[in-house]
Amino acid sequence: MKDYDVVVIGAGISGLLSALALSKEGKKVLVLEKEGYLGGVCRSYEVDGYYVDTGVHAITRLEEGPLRELMNKYFDVVPNFIPFGTYYVRIDGRIKPFPWNIKNWLMFDLLPTKDRLLLMKSLFNTLYMLSIGRDLSTVSISDILPANLSITSKTFLDWLSYFMVGTSMENAPVSRFIDNREHKPNSIPYVGKLYNLLITEGATDQGYPKGGLQSIVDSILNSFPKNKVEIKTNEEVLKIQGNGGIKEVITKGDSYDCNTVIYSGFASNLPDLIDNLPKVYVKNLRSIRKANSLTIWLGLTKNIFKNQGSEMWVTSDPYAWVVPTSNYDQKLAPKGKQLVGFTFILPDEYNALRIRKKALDTIINTIPDIEKYIDMIHYQELIPEKASWVINSGFGDVKTPIRNFYTVGTDAEKRSAGVSRAAYSVLRCLEVMKSDKFL
Ligand SMILES: Cc1cc2nc3c(=O)[nH]c(=O)nc-3n(C[C@H](O)[C@H](O)[C@H](O)COP(=O)(O)OP(=O)(O)OC[C@H]3O[C@@H](n4cnc5c(N)ncnc54)[C@H](O)[C@@H]3O)c2cc1C
Repeated sequence: MKDYDVVVIGAGISGLLSALALSKEGKKVLVLEKEGYLGGVCRSYEVDGYYVDTGVHAITRLEEGPLRELMNKYFDVVPNFIPFGTYYVRIDGRIKPFPWNIKNWLMFDLLPTKDRLLLMKSLFNTLYMLSIGRDLSTVSISDILPANLSITSKTFLDWLSYFMVGTSMENAPVSRFIDNREHKPNSIPYVGKLYNLLITEGATDQGYPKGGLQSIVDSILNSFPKNKVEIKTNEEVLKIQGNGGIKEVITKGDSYDCNTVIYSGFASNLPDLIDNLPKVYVKNLRSIRKANSLTIWLGLTKNIFKNQGSEMWVTSDPYAWVVPTSNYDQKLAPKGKQLVGFTFILPDEYNALRIRKKALDTIINTIPDIEKYIDMIHYQELIPEKASWVINSGFGDVKTPIRNFYTVGTDAEKRSAGVSRAAYSVLRCLEVMKSDKFL
């Protein structure tokens, strides 16, 4: 008899959510994590008295999204989410709230009036294309833009493409922006979208977890049923073996017999872990594209960022998203100090030292005097999602060609982004396991 019903490879948020759900469904789970810590790119740690996250985060779809569904069903301890607040757009030194609906868009004078009207026309054309059933997954944002748009407006759309999709507007599919939520069988997506455009108040179902990202991981760990989940860290899986199905997972120092495996590492690494995968499958995995990011955390001796919310730095080079996390939870910084994260999306190829300097210079040039108040600097180079939804690139799937072998994480599911996307992948994995009669 096997010691475990299922082996989960990787203890990022998708691996841990999978382990929690399966253990609550009565399965005995072994989690193998290659690093010495849990949480992957969704965790927090201490630096000089500040508690930094792995990149700046807004947790989305908290009212009825996939994480909420998993929390309702499987969590004994639920994180406390604080409303994320306003998204401010900063363009050339001026700041305004992000225009979520048409009324605000018309008043959004950080972009020229002519551009705003032209872009509205593009938007209605796009909704029309959607209504006649045109596939927008291969149409890029730049394809639908009117000619002679100002550079600032193009930059604004490029910023949105990089932060929502992880790529430039030339490579970002329109479908990502239009709609990718689940719909009830008879609903018409574009009507919902149009309704949203007219009345939406903004990102009202987004939050920041009190205590930092770590509180999400801690909630999962504290919800594991007794004696159902074993976690081994510093245990990198080097090979997954079997013949037609899964038989064994091999790490540097050990091997584990098992019939069912959930893999949450990079799907693009699977061809190195499993021999004789079908060629078409390998080709798709090899063509997955991912984005690179740099986050600079600054501890400040003065409260410089006063707003509850974040700033989108549209005209900075590289583009930045700025979140003063200690405004959500003062305990993340020493008393009287402020902790701010600046996340930059980086090009495919970059020189780490040069880009750090350039990004820090951008911060210093954007916020006069900030240098005087810097108490701590911490840099993180991380991959936000294991696959960007780039036109004509590969993408993984929960289902694989191997029996009882599944993948989860941000390269196994296209819906939404980040933590929500990871959570969607876990929900789908549970569905597939049910139809495979494992659950
Ligand atoms: C800068 C930045 C900003 C972000 N902003 C947001 C945001 O605003 N909102 C949001 O929702 N999300 C955001 N995210 C994204 C979000 O954090 C991630 O998408 C999510 O945490 C990914 O989870 P995952 O489980 O898919 O992958 P990972 O966290 O990468 O987990 C995979 C785990 O598997 C382990 N592993 C890999 N290979 C092996 C192996 N062979 N053997 C054993 N273990 C292995 C890895 O060490 C890792 O722990 C951001 C991320 C970054 C970096």
